Amino acid sequence: MEIQNVINDASSAAFERAQALLPGGVNSPVRAFRGVGGVPRFIDRGAGAYLYDIDGNQYIDYVLSWGPLILGHAYPAVVEAICAQAQRGTSFGAPTELESELAELVIAAVPSVEMVRFVSSGTEATMSAIRLARAYTQREKIIKFEGCYHGHADPFLVQAGSGVATLGLPDSPGVLKSATSNTLTAPFNDLDAVEALFKANAGQVAALVIEPVAGNMGFVLPREGYLVGLRQLCDQHGALLIFDEVMTGFRVAYGGAQAYFNVMPDLTCLGKVVGGGLPAAAYGGRREIMQMVAPAGNMYQAGTLSGNPLAMVAGIQTLREIAKPEVFERLTGVTSTLCQGFWKAAFKNSIPFQAHKAGSMWGFFFAGDEVYDFTSAKRADTVMFGKFFHAMLEQGVYLAPSQFEAAFVSTAHSDELVAQTIKAAQAAFASIRS
Ligand code: PLP
Repeated sequence: MEIQNVINDASSAAFERAQALLPGGVNSPVRAFRGVGGVPRFIDRGAGAYLYDIDGNQYIDYVLSWGPLILGHAYPAVVEAICAQAQRGTSFGAPTELESELAELVIAAVPSVEMVRFVSSGTEATMSAIRLARAYTQREKIIKFEGCYHGHADPFLVQAGSGVATLGLPDSPGVLKSATSNTLTAPFNDLDAVEALFKANAGQVAALVIEPVAGNMGFVLPREGYLVGLRQLCDQHGALLIFDEVMTGFRVAYGGAQAYFNVMPDLTCLGKVVGGGLPAAAYGGRREIMQMVAPAGNMYQAGTLSGNPLAMVAGIQTLREIAKPEVFERLTGVTSTLCQGFWKAAFKNSIPFQAHKAGSMWGFFFAGDEVYDFTSAKRADTVMFGKFFHAMLEQGVYLAPSQFEAAFVSTAHSDELVAQTIKAAQAAFASIRS
């Protein structure tokens, strides 16, 4: 396959205009393509597995709005539900039955969640979950992991993944030392490091928060026994275990990573898929802990658009569709085929490479040695990644524009599209080798 340069004149002009108006031309950093160079594609519309840019180019989309679109773009039942709800009103600032309907679906799906509070972004979910953990335990410190990203609330902007890693930022200016002085960090997949932190901060750690499958330093799986080990350490030291399943929830399995690995956290953060492509997120957990949230209890947390009816109906329709057992079976199969196809194609071209997956979430590194934490992830070849990314884009495959992000599939990714993607990867590997 000949790799051609696609025309992106309209995107170039749109980017120039946007840069004068929006910092970096975007409203979230990784969208600007700084990790790979070049002009970000400005999107006109999406349909199923495809994205269309404003120059008329078509791409098979493996970003899917960074995870939420598990049914693909503009899934008819979701669109119909949003339109029907919009006719009835877009926000009331008063309770609706829709919130209970989505809560019932979430509680039925996610094994450790007995009660849930809806918010509007993953950042709000994680920020609120640690406030709740601190209120519940009456302790101040939290443990997070290098390369894990939990949104942009101040206490989490320490050794963070995603855009922070892509831009190579150590920490962000504007975050007060006092906001992060109670954030302890450990390398991912290292139980001894966590044990040492617990011992050095005895009786002071409120919670340990982790992406159970890391998706923000690239895709990194927990090693065998690691999550169980964390559960045990939290129990021994009286700290809550918080799974940030904003990315993994309804993604690695319908019940999230906790169902996939059978390890139960005390609190769970959800986002992305739970809002079906609209702004909704949630935190939930054991009833006894959740009862501390206002107005049931005195841990304050609120939101003008929380439980927004448009987001609730999008979430309800999405969860109803993916609850069918055959859906995850197929998504998992498609993801396996992609990983194997990429790996084989790289091997054929003698390129150090590895690809891994869990459910409908996957990722790859240009690295010969095992990637198991942020340090090993950072050893991956980002220059090679950038070349591969552009070679794929020019063949109509849209991957995350950073080595430090995960990839996703949707129910709209047919076997034919997967085969086409693998063929593109073969050509891309061959082109970057030379
Ligand atoms: N937690 C995880 C694991 C995430 O991947 C993200 C976003 O990518 C967040 C939290 C923050 O979510 P949001 O961007 O909706 O604030």
